[in-house]
This record gives sequence, C-alpha cells and structure tokens, in this order.
Amino acid sequence: MATMLEVSGLHHRYGSGETAHVAVNDLAFTVESGQLACIVGPSGCGKSTLLRCLSGLIRPSGGRVALHGDPVDGVPDDLAVVFQDYSRSLFPWLTVRQNVEFPLRWKSMSRAERRSRAEEALEWVNLPGVGSKYPWQLSGGMQQRVSIARALARRPALLLMDEPFASVDAQTRFELEDLLRDVQQQNETTILLVTHDIDESVYLGDRVLVLSTSPASIVADLTVDLPAERDQISTRESAEFVSLRAEVARLLHDPAQAPAGATTD
Ligand code: ADP
Repeated sequence: MATMLEVSGLHHRYGSGETAHVAVNDLAFTVESGQLACIVGPSGCGKSTLLRCLSGLIRPSGGRVALHGDPVDGVPDDLAVVFQDYSRSLFPWLTVRQNVEFPLRWKSMSRAERRSRAEEALEWVNLPGVGSKYPWQLSGGMQQRVSIARALARRPALLLMDEPFASVDAQTRFELEDLLRDVQQQNETTILLVTHDIDESVYLGDRVLVLSTSPASIVADLTVDLPAERDQISTRESAEFVSLRAEVARLLHDPAQAPAGATTD
C-alpha cells in the first residue's frame, strides 16, 4: 500500500516567550492509501491544532507533513475537510447541488461534468433527488451528508474529518457512521477522522491512533481487527470491539500504561 500522509516530528507552539503554549509535541505517523484512520484524544489535547497543521491552514513550528510525497505548504488542492458544524459550512443561499458543485468551480471541467459529479456524490450519500432543495430544508443529518458529498465530489487524495458526527442525535450518528464506512469502501477513499468518542473511533477505524492529554503526542497506534462489514449491534457486542474500546479507554485514562511506540500491527 502506498503512503498517502506522512507526518514526522510535528510540533506546534502557540505564542512565544513566557506565554508560549505547546499544543502538539513531536508527532509522527503515516496513513496508507485507502485506509480509514481515527485519531481519538481528550478535549483540549490538540486535535484541532493537528488538523490545522495537516490541512496547511497553519504552518507548524516544526516537523514535516507530506501528502503523497509532496510537502504540505498551504492548503493542498486535493485535500478536503468535513467539519462538525454543518450549519456553518454549507451556504444557505445556494441549493444542495450548487453547494456540492461549489468547490469544483476551480477545477477545469465543464458545467455538465460538474453537475454529473455532484449528482454522483449525492447518490453516494443516499441523497438522490434533493439537489434543488436548500440546506435549511433538510434535517441536520441530511445536511451533514451534503457536506460529505461536497467533499467527495472533489475526489480528494485525503479526506480530513473533524468530529463530523458530534452535532447529530445518536440514531443519526449511527446511520452516518455506516454510510461513511460504505462510501469509503466503495471509493477506497483515504480518511483521517478525529473524534473524542472512543466507541466511534473503534467502530469506524481500520486503525486508532490514541493521543495523550495536551500537548498531543501519540500514545498508541492500534490496528482494528474487526471484519470490514460492520453492524451497529453485532459489531459493538463482539468480544474484539469490547476489548479494544476498553484498551483505548485505559490508554486515554492512563497514557503511562502504553509501552513506547505501542502498536498492535
Ligand atoms: P482540541 O481540538 O483537542 O480540543 P485544540 O487544538 O483546540 O485542542 O487546543 C489545544 C491547546 O492549544 C489548548 O490548550 C488550547 O487552549 C490551545 N490553543 C488552541 N488554539 C490556540 C490559539 N489560536 N492560540 C493559543 N492557544 C491555542
């Protein structure tokens, strides 16, 4: 498998002198092409700072981020981000189809091609036929599916997701988790998803990277050895799921328990 994302010695400090605050400390990991990797860490540990560094929104104080071998210096063209707050990330004055097509305007493609890419992405997220509606005419879960469609329509090399299901109710969250895994497997999209929800990280991931409390560093890199086909009831009841979620919880509670460079690979 080719390496899609490579992070080495990543360090970020806000401010300088006595008021300096180290948010991310010496992080190193890679994400392979086609993998769905989850990063789980406690609130305030530095997850958003890490994502901002990975997406080129801020320049890290030290270390290196590379996307398919190219150093990240500014927001890469072939990277898409889905945020938690769908209501602030969709344009209310544009229809669903126009929202999904919006980032494609900067690509050299015809209107017809943009339209067909948008329709295709809306089908991937089970929203065919809503293209002419406005986001505010849809439920929260449907709006987040539009955000996911917009990101996928660009066919990004890497999709970063920042707590994407934290603002929807529990039932919708389960539906969106299953939808994401289906779409990811169909399209072999490479995804790095950040969450503070232990169960979600294990249910969704091929891999779970556990972060320490601030400043963020990697406590463990665990392979999720669950079948590719997952089910909200039987998977969550399985012995593997229960044991892995307990391990992640233990590591978050007491990072000192992790042996250096802990991994289940
Ligand atoms: P998380 O996303 O895990 O909640 P953040 O990356 O938002 O964590 O924050 C990590 C730490 O960095 C926190 O202590 C936060 O207060 C601090 N921090 C975040 N953004 C800034 C900033 N722009 N300036 C100074 N400190 C910041």
